[in-house]
Amino acid sequence: MVKIIIIGGGAGGLELATDLGDKLGKSNQAEVTLIDKNTYHIWKPLLHEVATGILNEQADKIDYAEQGQQHHFQFIQGTFTNLNREEKHVIIENSNSESISVPYDTLVVAIGSTSNDFGTPGVKEHCIFLDDQNAAIRLRETLITKFASFCSIIDEHETTIEDKIRIAIVGGGATGVELASELPHMVETFGNCGRNKMCSDLLDVSIIEATDRILPALPEKTALNITNTLQKRGIHVLTKTMITKAESDGFYPKEGDIISADIMIWTAGVKAPDYLKDIAGLESSRSNQLVVKPTLQTTRDDNIFVIGDCAYAMQNSGRASPATAQAAHQMAKICYENIINMLNNKPMKSFNYVDNGTIISLHDTAQGVVKIAGKCEMNVKGFFALTIHRLLYRMHQASLLGILKTIQFAKASKAMYKKKLASLFHHQN
Ligand SMILES: Cc1cc2nc3c(=O)[nH]c(=O)nc-3n(C[C@H](O)[C@H](O)[C@H](O)COP(=O)(O)OP(=O)(O)OC[C@H]3O[C@@H](n4cnc5c(N)ncnc54)[C@H](O)[C@@H]3O)c2cc1C
Repeated sequence: MVKIIIIGGGAGGLELATDLGDKLGKSNQAEVTLIDKNTYHIWKPLLHEVATGILNEQADKIDYAEQGQQHHFQFIQGTFTNLNREEKHVIIENSNSESISVPYDTLVVAIGSTSNDFGTPGVKEHCIFLDDQNAAIRLRETLITKFASFCSIIDEHETTIEDKIRIAIVGGGATGVELASELPHMVETFGNCGRNKMCSDLLDVSIIEATDRILPALPEKTALNITNTLQKRGIHVLTKTMITKAESDGFYPKEGDIISADIMIWTAGVKAPDYLKDIAGLESSRSNQLVVKPTLQTTRDDNIFVIGDCAYAMQNSGRASPATAQAAHQMAKICYENIINMLNNKPMKSFNYVDNGTIISLHDTAQGVVKIAGKCEMNVKGFFALTIHRLLYRMHQASLLGILKTIQFAKASKAMYKKKLASLFHHQN
């Protein structure tokens, strides 16, 4: 039987494994296997919500093994480390640090991206990245520990002390902005859990951006509106501020004084993991992504497809498709069709990225643009925009679980949300 291996069960890979399992695994036309370093899936665009306790990863996670049982694919937990194209097998490291080789006929690489520190000194050592669910949980623990220790200081003083919890986030893209927007609410919730001196006034959050504005994917006017909203909430937006080094006490800009910080977060850009560069002689981009043809097959090996953030797919516009969940989803759909076409000796389809817009969630509101058929642009904001933002997540879930289960998930997640936040915070009280 044909062996199809998908490495990475993220926004693109899990949708693909589910679709291929349902189509080919169920009818024994192929053996479909998903490999991921984790045991469960959390949709990456919501990692800032995991980090701030808004999203309950226990209620919203999708267990790979369970998903595989229901959708006819196998799951292997392991970290992809290398590739042997001659013998057609991938090398993974399992949880006991043993190297295992897994054979394939068709391989799909969907391992996403990691933060790019652009070689800035001190960033690796002193900053927190928001690369996966484990990192998001670590950030949440760091924040809660900081809030708790700050509370102890306040408790020893009669009045509120002048010091604040300083959080500096480098990178004014969606990740940095959405994360910053959730922080005041997180502190308020902490205050409501028995720490009533804690409030968002004690938080000093800065978004630091090297270019002249945040959110380059959005029209200038929308980005400006979002900047105003952030500033009204007390979040500093420092543009034209290029960070040249990070030390334990804060970020050092090219010009001006140190930006002191208690918690330093880096969301300034992404790249494919370093080990992907030129792996097994495949062509790669400057950001380590594997270069693919319009069919999403690598330029040097037709048996290897690449989708999502780790794919470098040049578009007719002369630009590569962006590293977004939207692109990963669209690639998964084309890759699915092309694998089936390849097995049936039919012509393959070309991937053409369609930009359906971008919406930025700002905790209790959202703003952005929605594009119809990639063209006609509509500005959206407020509750309507927030609803679309939530709907995008539920659509991703529905493509994996079906509509009924998605509704059950949404209800369970809502019911557990308050309990979860309270339990997280009470734990520290
Ligand atoms: C906070 C935040 C907000 C975002 N907001 C948006 C948004 O609003 N809209 C949007 O379109 N995009 C957004 N993005 C970007 C989006 O999340 C990514 O572009 C998208 O998830 C990429 O999908 P993917 O399938 O390529 O990779 P991922 O979803 O990252 O999945 C990669 C998978 O590979 C696994 N993996 C990684 N390395 C290995 C390995 N060595 N071995 C085995 N498994 C491995 C991981 O565990 C993971 O399951 C956001 C990202 C972040 C962090």
